[in-house]
Amino acid sequence: MTLAAFERATSLDRLRHETFDLVVIGGGVTGAGVALDAASRGLKVALVERDDFSSGTSSKSSKLIHGGLRYLQQGDVKLVYEALAERQRLLTNAPHLVKLLPFLLPMFGKGGVIPAKIARLLGTAMWGYDLTGGFKVGKLHKRVTKSEALEYMPTLPAKNLVSGYLYFDAAADDSRLVVAICRTAALHHGAVMANRVTVTGLTQGAAGNVNGVTVAADGDEFTIATNAVVNAAGVWADRVRTLDEGTDPDSMRPAKGVHLTVPHHLVRNTIAAVIPVPKDRRSVFVVPHGEFTYIGTTDTDYDGSIDDPQCTEDDIDYLLSAINANNVNTITRDDIVGTWAGLRPLVKSASSGRTADLSRGHNIHRSPSGVVTITGGKLTTYRHMAADTVDEVVSEVLGARAPRGAKRSVTKKLRLRGADGYQSVTAAARGYGVTNAVADHLANRFGGEARAVMAMIKDDPTLAEPLVPGLPYVRAEAIFAVRHEMARSVDDVLSRRTRARLYGRADSAAAADAVAELIAPELGWSAAEAAASAAEFRALCEHERDAAGLEDVLLGTALATV
Ligand code: FAD
Repeated sequence: MTLAAFERATSLDRLRHETFDLVVIGGGVTGAGVALDAASRGLKVALVERDDFSSGTSSKSSKLIHGGLRYLQQGDVKLVYEALAERQRLLTNAPHLVKLLPFLLPMFGKGGVIPAKIARLLGTAMWGYDLTGGFKVGKLHKRVTKSEALEYMPTLPAKNLVSGYLYFDAAADDSRLVVAICRTAALHHGAVMANRVTVTGLTQGAAGNVNGVTVAADGDEFTIATNAVVNAAGVWADRVRTLDEGTDPDSMRPAKGVHLTVPHHLVRNTIAAVIPVPKDRRSVFVVPHGEFTYIGTTDTDYDGSIDDPQCTEDDIDYLLSAINANNVNTITRDDIVGTWAGLRPLVKSASSGRTADLSRGHNIHRSPSGVVTITGGKLTTYRHMAADTVDEVVSEVLGARAPRGAKRSVTKKLRLRGADGYQSVTAAARGYGVTNAVADHLANRFGGEARAVMAMIKDDPTLAEPLVPGLPYVRAEAIFAVRHEMARSVDDVLSRRTRARLYGRADSAAAADAVAELIAPELGWSAAEAAASAAEFRALCEHERDAAGLEDVLLGTALATV
């Protein structure tokens, strides 16, 4: 097998001239997972993404690799069981990206007493979580006293706090996970991956079977020859199905979720917390992340443009009311340094209840022409979804045309790019003239490949300087992103390869010109092209800020504690 380069021009050339066993539409976690699953079974695979990898929902999640305690409370034991098994695999296969995260579930009551029914329900849910797979991480839940709960989150209102539960889940940077899956598929298993390639049509052979994917890229249109197609276009899946089936199946029910970021000193939680939302039957996560804490998510029906979901003033009010009811420091709009909004690609069901109650399971649909559409699911369960999808492609679409040995998925034990060599990165820091803090930061984003980033710093120590002042990302990450991770714009670098925009939107916008100047030589940009990419990023930031009715909040002010 020839291994593909993770390089866009080479990928485009191959897409034009070669015939594939499978073309995957959509470079979110689902499509990336399908490409890796199929390529590692020996299929010749291409993946096309119309914007950037993970630019859809897969960069806007709560970033938890979890079973979801609440799905257990909803009775979806199968989903939780599957998700916890996937969590375990990811902790092994991507230890550089997926980290164990303890959670506090504080319990409130009146007069120091928790209502017996609630205590019983929570106790049962906690044991259920351990039994469905939580125990695999080697740590069982435990009850904590009021003072222990306050040690984990000193800003909880002590008055009605009675005690709490401690349990374990995991978290990962969703965008980095997607890029790692894409790069593993290409660099280890030969898949051809390209971003900024939009599917505009599908072609069929004389027997009515799909045999080509027409795409637009760089102002040109061409058709990729293929024997099978997977539609992993998330909330856009119906649009792709319309290209194939001729009518809009209207099968999706997008549900919007938003998060906001505030300085950690206002919350001071040392572990994640699950807090109740006043006057709602929901709770939200409060997740510490370095000098920040992010809070989310909402879960609401969405009927706006699926191309532009935004965090609104109402969303902000909802999350502020939740945190302020559970935190002694009052957090205001002026403390919010970042927001993000995404759409869950949920599948419609007969029930018209709340989106929060809709199943997070996945659905596979095969059209008369053989296009296999995968929708629903979760970031956590992407591997399992991918295996099911490729099983369908191999058995129902390719049949005898599938390569030998392609019947079974091999991804359960497949380690992602960066997993190897990850543990020893920090020990190597001194040899590259890099501080342990920078090496740690890089190890947890690039795994073993952090050595390549550190080697750039050794050659040019200015690349260890911050990419955005006030945030931990270094300039070398931007260079690595455009050289090796197919980043093509300031937005790719600041929104997804690094997450600067999520933790400091105004500061990221202010750094846009400098970032554009840094990556311009790598991308062969003129000064005007660099300025345009920076301006485009600033416009995205302004649009996001204005939709939420917020002002620019700079980190220098927000992070100052006195
Ligand atoms: P997407 O990531 O949207 O990918 C689809 C891709 O298809 C897009 O990149 C799009 O550009 C591309 N595309 C569309 N049309 C075309 C075309 N014509 N040509 C080429 N490409 C095209 N799950 C968890 O497990 N844990 C969590 O903590 C969690 N939190 C969440 C919080 C929120 C607020 C939301 C919204 C979801 C959350 N999820 C979570 C769910 C998870 O994020 C999603 O299930 C997952 O990211 C969906 O991935 P996807 O690849 O199916 O869709």
